[in-house]
Amino acid sequence: MGIKVAKFGGSSVADGIQLTKTKAIIQQDPDRRYIVVSAPGKRFEGDNKITDLLYLCKTHIEHNLPYDQLFQVVADRYMAVEVNLGVDVDLLCYFDEIRENLKKNPSSDYIASRGEYLNAILVAAFLGYDFVDTAGLIKFDAKGKLLMEETDRAIREELSGHERAVLPGFYGSTPDGHIKTFSRGGSDITGALVARAVGADVYENWTDVSGFLMADPRIVKNPKQIQSISYKELRELSYMGAGVLHEDAIYPARMANIPINIRNTNNPDDEGTFITSEASDESRQAEDRIITGIAGSKDFTVVALYKNMMSSEKGFVRRILGILDDYDINFEHLPSGIDTVSVVMSNKSIDGRLDDVLDEFESRLRPDSIDVIENIALIATVGHGMSKRTGVSAALFTALANAGVNIRMIDQGSSEMNIIVGVENKDFEKAIRAIYEAFVQ
Ligand code: ASP
Repeated sequence: MGIKVAKFGGSSVADGIQLTKTKAIIQQDPDRRYIVVSAPGKRFEGDNKITDLLYLCKTHIEHNLPYDQLFQVVADRYMAVEVNLGVDVDLLCYFDEIRENLKKNPSSDYIASRGEYLNAILVAAFLGYDFVDTAGLIKFDAKGKLLMEETDRAIREELSGHERAVLPGFYGSTPDGHIKTFSRGGSDITGALVARAVGADVYENWTDVSGFLMADPRIVKNPKQIQSISYKELRELSYMGAGVLHEDAIYPARMANIPINIRNTNNPDDEGTFITSEASDESRQAEDRIITGIAGSKDFTVVALYKNMMSSEKGFVRRILGILDDYDINFEHLPSGIDTVSVVMSNKSIDGRLDDVLDEFESRLRPDSIDVIENIALIATVGHGMSKRTGVSAALFTALANAGVNIRMIDQGSSEMNIIVGVENKDFEKAIRAIYEAFVQ
């Protein structure tokens, strides 16, 4: 018998109807032995996610506002599912335990984690699987950094004693026993860690879309679905804003060479998208696919520094990076010329401190000129298929020129599997559509 780890996101476990679908999916394949669940998500447009309500409870507690009704809304959601599905768990006892803890003003991580905790208990009972808490298995250090190897060992040891289990996503604990969560959407990471620990054949990530699309459907009409994508390509696309899977979920699966399969709970017959290692890229190249996907985001600033003889001035770039470090700003790209270097930063990271940063550049780098280009959008066109072909960039730039898009910056990763262009924010959508049409028939 093989092992599949299946993680079900918030929308797949939002209510009794969704949980019934989820159960059917799990029962359809006996290899689906380890199930990781998110907290219940939105049931309809305008609904609340349990996690959001729990964070709101924390805000109320902090402001000394009554939170009982709010917590009752959370409790009612679970009780409705319990009644609806005819599951027998002593939810009231768990609610009492949480209510007691809420009186002690616990951390927001503790409060938020209760969404997954309660849900895993409920789902385990519904499936007849064991409930295995991840609090003692997913280990963080005192600073909140994930201890990957310790976690791996702990999960492996624990699950060796469980044939089938449901585990809550999203959280673990620090050495002093306090609950620590991942960032939002972090149940994906839990799923990947479990998959790695048990040596799963595949890590299935069940959500409400059938995998990745080649472009954002809000921009391109009916974009094609990506059937397979390498970890590296996905990393490039998610970094640039293609959602669906938490970025940090890729690493554990990649380390253990476990394919990730994004699936749709509402359309389980669709095979979804497979995220695999480099090896299978070769076969995909044979499919003659040039690009795998296009993604991007808006609101970057480019600071172009020019200094005569910069190329022979030692430590120039080091000093730029030192300034960014002092301001805790991440740079996205650093395209350079003979006597020029441009620093591309997200506006979010600059956080209103552009003038201060420019003053520092001025005084510590003494450039001949500084040009600032604001409101830039970055678009990454990604695909291993590009690297061994001639004319790809020509086609891309021609498409943009024909669409009347002015390119403000170009950067190509050394892997040659992406071409990044900077365009004005206002041209963002137009540029993505033009690239898509140039490469996808
Ligand atoms: N429930 C958490 C969130 O909403 C974690 C998750 O669903 O992955 O972010």
